[in-house]
Amino acid sequence: MPSTLALDGGQPVVPSGMVQSWPPLTQADREAVLAVFDSGHLHGTSAPKALELQEKWAAYVGTKYALVTNSGTASIHMAVAAAGLGPGDEVITSAFTYWSTAAAVLHHNAVPVFVDIDPRTYTMDPALIEERITGYTRAILPVHIHGMVADMDPIREIARKHNLVVIEDACQAHGATYKGVKTGALGDIGCFSCNRSKNLSGGEGGLWTTDNEEYLAHAAKLREFGEVVLPDRQREYNAYGLGWMYRPHEFVNAFILAQLERLDEYNAQRRQFANYLTKALAEIPGFEGPYTPDYADPCYFSYVVSFEPQQLGLDVTPETWKRAVQKAAAAEGIGLGQWQTRPVPSQDVFRDRVGYGKGCPWTCPYGSGQVRYDEEYPRTLDFIAGHAYLSGVYPPNTMELMKLYVDGFQKLSENAERVLELARD
Ligand SMILES: *Cc1c(COP(=O)(O)O)cnc(C)c1O
Repeated sequence: MPSTLALDGGQPVVPSGMVQSWPPLTQADREAVLAVFDSGHLHGTSAPKALELQEKWAAYVGTKYALVTNSGTASIHMAVAAAGLGPGDEVITSAFTYWSTAAAVLHHNAVPVFVDIDPRTYTMDPALIEERITGYTRAILPVHIHGMVADMDPIREIARKHNLVVIEDACQAHGATYKGVKTGALGDIGCFSCNRSKNLSGGEGGLWTTDNEEYLAHAAKLREFGEVVLPDRQREYNAYGLGWMYRPHEFVNAFILAQLERLDEYNAQRRQFANYLTKALAEIPGFEGPYTPDYADPCYFSYVVSFEPQQLGLDVTPETWKRAVQKAAAAEGIGLGQWQTRPVPSQDVFRDRVGYGKGCPWTCPYGSGQVRYDEEYPRTLDFIAGHAYLSGVYPPNTMELMKLYVDGFQKLSENAERVLELARD
């Protein structure tokens, strides 16, 4: 006899209040922020914690240089600008991402062009890139989504062949590796977010990496109003070009530094949880964990569950099965969330090409004027329809919770017909 679903009055599998939120906060974090408070150094790209974080992040990633910024979006915009992209230039990126990736391209009056994903890794499919390259293409912007690295060798090969810059959106992939090399060191420029949810959290914040001195100098100007602001030089108060205000607060730098001390340990726990869940789900009809190619050591920003009704002999779509399970799982105390609801190019900002207004950047005289977004991205649509995100697969949660999750999936699988019936009501 399968146990009674919580929706039918049974005992929920996960006790309420058990799932803890990210990130874990410690006394070390508190002391790091308070030390800044007491130090008198609250501000500036040459403040002690800013410089220390830049040095430590570059060392961690394996690049020569890093910059602190105030968001992942700022980092990507700085990358687009530093690479010399501008009005009408085309940047090829993934149809499946948070739209900030593409917004940062628009911020510089450049034009995003989208490719569909590899259905197994949910990152951009390198086989679809070349058909999108035109005389206007200047860069490829792969996104390491959910902590999974994009397949970088073929991407870099295409970039070399067509003389394109590679900018990594690594906002969801701090510490993930591709063939042993960390994200942020896999392209010409790497971009990270440190917003509350990210593997390396500062509440808000961002990081930027490169080996290229020219890009570094350009990005640093972009970060501070177009000026050159250096620790060992009198500030000139002269803007060399258009810039933004992408400086982080010194509290945030200190907080990120404190979290960075524990990043590897946290990522190791995420991997342990993910490996355990994926093994267990392989034995439970109706669900699968994420696929991991040989080249990748993901850092599991999100733990992705795919819905496989055919494994249970159910004649419904993955999406119908997913929606039914989400409802029953919520009652069991298991969060199976939805993230993106459509491919990025299907959002109104692209469909209507609103941008700055007056058609820019799409009808800007420097561009092709040809980029439109009316096509479908079938693999992205399938991925969105057939997957959900399991909450709490990170510390300070423990294996105890992961074991309860497995019990919960088992219960939902055993009660599959009833789960579907309850969703129809
Ligand atoms: C979070 C995120 C961003 C933006 O980072 P912010 O710090 O929120 O600006 C960009 N791309 C991806 C893939 C992200 O997950």
